[in-house]
Amino acid sequence: MTPTPRRAAGSPRDRAAGLADLTWPEVPRDVLVLVPLGSTEQHGPHLPFDTDSVIAAAVAQRVAELLPAREEGGVLVAPALAYGASGEHAGFPGTVSIGDSALRIVVVEMVRSLGIWAGRIVFVNGHGGNVAALDDAVGQMRAEGHDVAWTGCDVPGGDPHAGRTETSVMLHLAPDRVRLDAAVAGDTRPLAVLLPELRARGVRGVAPSGVLGDPTGATAEEGLRTVRAMTAGALRRITTGVPDARGRLVVPEAPEVWETPETPEAPDTPQVWETSDASEAPSAPASAPAPAPTGRPEAERVAR
Ligand SMILES: [Zn+2]
Repeated sequence: MTPTPRRAAGSPRDRAAGLADLTWPEVPRDVLVLVPLGSTEQHGPHLPFDTDSVIAAAVAQRVAELLPAREEGGVLVAPALAYGASGEHAGFPGTVSIGDSALRIVVVEMVRSLGIWAGRIVFVNGHGGNVAALDDAVGQMRAEGHDVAWTGCDVPGGDPHAGRTETSVMLHLAPDRVRLDAAVAGDTRPLAVLLPELRARGVRGVAPSGVLGDPTGATAEEGLRTVRAMTAGALRRITTGVPDARGRLVVPEAPEVWETPETPEAPDTPQVWETSDASEAPSAPASAPAPAPTGRPEAERVAR
């Protein structure tokens, strides 16, 4: 019998398939695979270590469900990569960073392996500290002829780390895992201002709580709007974007639009971008410009 691709648990019309749920005969040929990239790093006294992984997986899942290709069973969401480059958070117990070099190799090997059977590969990145390795690895893989690209999960006005943005999103996605009574305001200076200090002293040297931003006012409702905006942006880049030399998906000849008909509740207040996808948000200070390699490698990257 010809195997029929099926989608993950839940309504087949509502859920795009998760790779982990399938068996090999169910994997469609030339399928688009979305690979969420996260981290295991401190997120202040109130958010769990896997916050970035949870967000990246949620955005990838929602994008998959909205992609036209889903109707042909042509989209899979791979398990999230739970480790990333988080050296800037090394001052906090619990953080586990694999660093830029290892992450670059992991991404390269994932693409080579996925490329044997997948049609197109898009990494959905939830952690800005992964950007330098992603740029290197995806750029190299594109040069080798692989159909691979990456995009971020960025939102307008997002604060850098464990602040209102991520707290709201987690209140929406995983409310039972948020210790809201432990939340404290961190350093709220713009990331562009903080960067030199962060590079020199790491996050702990700048913000002892581990928070860059202020979780005050975070709500699940705001988190829902934020997830919709993240999803709309990623969806647009994946459907209409073109990879640049580093494999970042960029929407050509149009300003980034973060609200679509699918996201009627997206934030309507124009705000400054802080994003891990700086190529699409030139005004944002964000984490993107990867510092040149120096003697103190991983401690230099800052991001969600
Ligand atoms: Zn984060």
